[in-house]
Amino acid sequence: MQAMKVAVVGGGLGGLTAAALLARGGCEVTLYERSKHLGGRAQTTEVEGFRFNLGPHALYRAGAAMRVLGRLGVKPPGGIPGAGSYALRAGRLHTLPSGPVTLMTTDVLSLAGKLEVARLLAGLARIDTAPLGPLSTREWLDTRLAREDSRALVGALVRVATYCADHTVLSAQVAVKQLQSAVAANVLYVDGGWSTLVDAVERQGREAGARLELSARVDAVVLRGSRVEGVRLADGTVHAADAVVVAGSPAEVAALVPGDAVLAREAREAIPIKAATLELGLSTLPRPGALFALGVDGPWYASVHSASARLAPEGGAMVHVAKYLGGSDTEPSESELESVMDAFQPGWRAHVVARRFRPALTVSAGLPQAAKGGLSG
Ligand SMILES: Cc1cc2nc3c(=O)[nH]c(=O)nc-3n(C[C@H](O)[C@H](O)[C@H](O)COP(=O)(O)OP(=O)(O)OC[C@H]3O[C@@H](n4cnc5c(N)ncnc54)[C@H](O)[C@@H]3O)c2cc1C
Repeated sequence: MQAMKVAVVGGGLGGLTAAALLARGGCEVTLYERSKHLGGRAQTTEVEGFRFNLGPHALYRAGAAMRVLGRLGVKPPGGIPGAGSYALRAGRLHTLPSGPVTLMTTDVLSLAGKLEVARLLAGLARIDTAPLGPLSTREWLDTRLAREDSRALVGALVRVATYCADHTVLSAQVAVKQLQSAVAANVLYVDGGWSTLVDAVERQGREAGARLELSARVDAVVLRGSRVEGVRLADGTVHAADAVVVAGSPAEVAALVPGDAVLAREAREAIPIKAATLELGLSTLPRPGALFALGVDGPWYASVHSASARLAPEGGAMVHVAKYLGGSDTEPSESELESVMDAFQPGWRAHVVARRFRPALTVSAGLPQAAKGGLSG
């Protein structure tokens, strides 16, 4: 029997993984990537010996990506963060409740708030997320927690677990699933950055026989009626395929099949999750005991990724700072993120070796919306 010919559009981690798995499954796979390099948003850039991911990237150890990497035999090297964690409130660091002791000693919660959060976290793993699809995260927080301080803290945990600041839109199903995953097994910061994953999956794909074409933009999926015949590249050439996998955003998928009303609607209705990010390479860490800070009164994140993974030269520190965007907050200024660093690592400006600011990165092209039923939408 002839092998099925599959064209994969997109050489990010999603497309590369699909290509590797399909090639292993016996398909004849060609992957087309429009840029000159593979990796998409999982790219890592080296600046002065510091390895900058495109914003803070954490691999959920109990998540789907880890399972798929496992199927490919990829065991990502890296470390698990956790030590030196703080809550950031009113420009000051406070104890971040991350276990029974810190939950009882923190001053970001009242006594009633502590009991409420303790109850929620104790039962978190047993929450059935299936019925939560059409419920917004805001509604879920409001029904589960009576106190404002508890909602602020759990809302902050949802932000870091989902990257999403717009809890009136985000489905509670996804928020709770991500919290469960984070609490069950934490995350991994990857040695060398996410390009380590890209390189490993690329190797698996090539070994399985997948062909990877760079600088190859696909302009259209070629159809005869509803049957796939192949893909047309920007240079006008047509490449035959029995099936096409498009590993891009809803807008990119819709652009390749112009007459498809369902894909066009998906693209129109998709709400991206966005973040502003500041990457910093420091010659030294002014406050070595502070390795992570999470805003409870604002959508802030700061983390010394090099404390858990190999991302900085000897003695240096690689820090990711982020602001989760949502609603009308679309392009914050760099100084907002610098203020987070002022609270997290006072005196950091004297130690900057490398830096990069990105005002609005797309973390996910399609936020799982409560209005669309959550993951089923
Ligand atoms: C700031 C930030 C933080 C993140 N943090 C995390 C995190 O902590 N944990 C996590 O799991 N994920 C995180 N992500 C998301 C993660 O980077 C992506 O989900 C992951 O890299 C997989 O991306 P992808 O392959 O789906 O898409 P992309 O990486 O966007 O790849 C799509 C590729 O398709 C190519 N392409 C598109 N259209 C065409 C076409 N017509 N022809 C040819 N090529 C085309 C593009 O050039 C691109 O290379 C984060 C992303 C950002 C930006």
